[in-house]
Amino acid sequence: MNNIERINLLEKERDLPQEEMRALLLTITSEEMEILSKAARRQREIYFGKDVYLRGIIEFSSYCRNDCYYCGIRKSNKKARRYRLPGDTIISCADRGYTLGFRTVVLQSGEDLSYSTDEICRIVSTIKNDHPDMAVTLSIGEKSKAEYQAYFDAGAERYLLREETASEAHYMKLHPAELSLENRKRCLFDLYDIGYQVGCGFMVGSPYQTQDDIISDLSFIKTLKPHMIGIGPFIHHSDTPFGNQPDGSLSDTLKLISILRLMWPDALIPATTALGTIHPKGREMGIMAGANVVMPNLSPKDYRKGYMLYDGKICTGDEAAECVSCMTGRIESTGYKVVMSRGDHPDFRK
Ligand code: SAH
Repeated sequence: MNNIERINLLEKERDLPQEEMRALLLTITSEEMEILSKAARRQREIYFGKDVYLRGIIEFSSYCRNDCYYCGIRKSNKKARRYRLPGDTIISCADRGYTLGFRTVVLQSGEDLSYSTDEICRIVSTIKNDHPDMAVTLSIGEKSKAEYQAYFDAGAERYLLREETASEAHYMKLHPAELSLENRKRCLFDLYDIGYQVGCGFMVGSPYQTQDDIISDLSFIKTLKPHMIGIGPFIHHSDTPFGNQPDGSLSDTLKLISILRLMWPDALIPATTALGTIHPKGREMGIMAGANVVMPNLSPKDYRKGYMLYDGKICTGDEAAECVSCMTGRIESTGYKVVMSRGDHPDFRK
């Protein structure tokens, strides 16, 4: 099979035999990438037309109990500037987002145990009571099934938790021994069971990642059947053990966005901030590769530099309203259209 045949088969079958996928990943040329991304756009338009959904992200705490080797807010990074927002500040950021037109708010943080389950539930239920038509997404790491259930009962409907890598050996190279891929996967399946719209994903070009590791992620995603898939390039952070590692590439990330789109035509796939960090037009290119979500920052401006997952992270200087207009301009420059509706996965549209 040649790459054009592989792309056609992938579009038709939403999958490829592993050997063909491996060959496509390894040998696709830039001209063939054009054909791949055109197929990805064709598929996304069947489900979503030209719509690109906006999610307002509130990064509410940069304290973390974990020590992931790649992450700038890992607990051993003594140079990290830490902050945590009080519950009521998080709620007022969400209110501000609502006023700006957002109908999804994503609450993300390090694994900060100072927020009790009750407090997270209070924050979620207050936002839902004040704005019943706003979706609340959580992205606060690994918890017990009972905790996930409590957040869900409080009104959280979506949860983002990247597996980071679905390969056991690779997982161990990115994380200290106290973290396990087994628990990460357990969390994802629990979230799915409870009834969340679930987002998984991985970093592209993280240290020691091989083609086989990427193939593992693609097959893990087939087992999980997530509603959202977030991928972005690994970007080094100087004050981490991976401070001297090379960054993931733009073209590998775009290629994988298109492949994921062809495998999952109805999924919500963001053009991430990391993609916008490695290239000034990275997010626009992500949209053109098949992504259909962007996540402008709603965190209070004064704290943003405290949520430095990697060096050079963009969008740390603007007010939320400026982020919205900047993002809208960027998306519209691609010929796609920003929509502020909840943007549920097709399986969850009421
Ligand atoms: N504590 C939450 C949120 C983590 S931060 C959780 O565990 O899910 C969100 C995502 O940022 C991570 O899942 C990871 O994939 C990504 N990230 C962290 N460090 C990064 C880096 N150096 N380069 C690129 N992405 C990174």
